[in-house]
Amino acid sequence: MPLYEFECENCSKSFEELIYTKKDKQNICCPKCGGKKVNILISMFGVAGTEKKVSANSCSSCSTKNCSTCA
Ligand SMILES: [Zn+2]
Repeated sequence: MPLYEFECENCSKSFEELIYTKKDKQNICCPKCGGKKVNILISMFGVAGTEKKVSANSCSSCSTKNCSTCA
């Protein structure tokens, strides 16, 4: 499910909406003030936790980044 996070330009309220079509996107308005000037902050697909993990390739016990326990 394409879940988008928006922020209202008018009142800075952030909210999430499920968007299925371009038409849906055009019809988005702020749930707080009803304003239609909204910025898309990020898009999430489905459940939380699917965001890419930012992980270093090094393990915590070495500084060479290529020991046998490094990922
Ligand atoms: Zn608003």
